[in-house]
Amino acid sequence: DVEAQAAAYDYVTREIYGPPLPDPWPQSDALVDEEIALEEIYGPLVPWGGPLEDAEVSAAVDRDEQTPVALDPYVDDGELCGPPPPEELTETRRDRAASSHELPFDPLAEALDSSHKDAKKKATSNPFEEFLAAEQRDAGKVEYDTVTYTRELTHRLRSGETMSEVLGAAGLSATEVDEWIRAARREYNLNRVYAGQELSLVVQMPETELQRLSLDIDRKTRLIAERSGDKVIARREEIPYERRLRVAGGEIEHSLYLSAIAQGVPDKIISEIAEILGWEVNFGALYQGATFRVVYEELSRPDTGQSTAGRVLAVEVENRGRRYEGFYYTTPDGSSGYYNRHGEALGRSFLRYPVAYSRISSQFSKGRFHPVLKRRVPHYGVDFAAPPGTPIKAVADGTVEKAGWYGGNGRFVKIRHDRLYETGYAHLSRIARGVRAGAHVKKGQVIGYVGSTGLATGPHLHFAMYRAGKYIDPLKANLPRPRPLSGNALAGFRITVSMMERAYAKAGLGHEEETTRIATALAAEAAE
Ligand SMILES: [Zn+2]
Repeated sequence: DVEAQAAAYDYVTREIYGPPLPDPWPQSDALVDEEIALEEIYGPLVPWGGPLEDAEVSAAVDRDEQTPVALDPYVDDGELCGPPPPEELTETRRDRAASSHELPFDPLAEALDSSHKDAKKKATSNPFEEFLAAEQRDAGKVEYDTVTYTRELTHRLRSGETMSEVLGAAGLSATEVDEWIRAARREYNLNRVYAGQELSLVVQMPETELQRLSLDIDRKTRLIAERSGDKVIARREEIPYERRLRVAGGEIEHSLYLSAIAQGVPDKIISEIAEILGWEVNFGALYQGATFRVVYEELSRPDTGQSTAGRVLAVEVENRGRRYEGFYYTTPDGSSGYYNRHGEALGRSFLRYPVAYSRISSQFSKGRFHPVLKRRVPHYGVDFAAPPGTPIKAVADGTVEKAGWYGGNGRFVKIRHDRLYETGYAHLSRIARGVRAGAHVKKGQVIGYVGSTGLATGPHLHFAMYRAGKYIDPLKANLPRPRPLSGNALAGFRITVSMMERAYAKAGLGHEEETTRIATALAAEAAE
């Protein structure tokens, strides 16, 4: 029954999402994580090629800062690997830092969109050329005297473009341009825009008078400036997102990654899946016929149509007839996480991996050939190969014991989680702001970025785990499990599970027994 299914689906989405975008956003939200990461990545950095001010840097050989890394859209021309921001910035440095904070909405799309050279060439053309040409063409034919109407122009800023140029191109006089820039100044400096920012203008025609200007400041905020009588009034507002549910699944052919990508599942969601089920499933050794299915959020902007991945709500991998499941749930006391069908928290109280890695380049071992020292030495940790600048997360809540340069470890962070366990993170290109000895960190919090400082042949994270002060193999450690859900939390969780099953069923990915149960339940509801 299609209608009953649609009703069930509405129920599902309503129940899951409630009113659009809770405020404030939940702190454990993966999206927030990503934003922290991006902010950290693009945060105040010493300009590439500029002087190194960190005393640590001159004290040790640091390959990262001496060899420019290959251009990577995520790495922003290698700026990432600059030394940590000096504690005290001069006024102008701080200004520059503030402007570099405002990262492109989508650095990857921006990089793909145009190489810098092309963008410069394009920037000399008028982005509104077509529109203006059409207006001029029509001007002779249409009686404009009594008719005014508005046009909305949208434009993604290109490399090298200034706001004056763009507003000029939209038909504003130099005086008007100046008026708008001045009016907005208190909220945002329009003289300091960057490539990739989304701009939208509402222009009153035929006199091309600007009525409204909207410019993305970052992923969450935009500037709105509006003409009101003879004044222009500016404010900041939150960018509205709409949440949507996406379901994907199928057979895993070569790897989860390839199969999920083929289904249009975003990278971010795939690495979350690996993180959620990482304790249960060995993704490197799946059998023929293994399958996956996932329900995840997509956040889209009604104004620009852009969308970005939210978080995984439910995931399942079936391997050799065994099902490994994860359901996202927030308990009545506000803690969020992934649980199996029985309400047992997945993983331990530790993240399986501190980093989204491409491969494990070196295992824990009591004696291996060291590529830099050229002799056999024990390797008391696991090396995760990952691009420089990849965010590194604390694997569990804890207190920072060390954060700074530590011999061959390069930039190093050590965290004490409880009386028994500590973890160490080495070769960081940067340590995240606020991560210093004595600071408290949360599980999943970004504490630094992958680099190759200290004794390292290439960018990777060396991850060490200590139990009672002794090194243990992080991949084999048998860590404590948190308590399962019970009482109200368990009751609420069961509703979440059944909603997710309905979402799977709706997408044709339901397991037979679930689908039957849902159909029966729907029939019973309909009969009431
Ligand atoms: Zn190592």
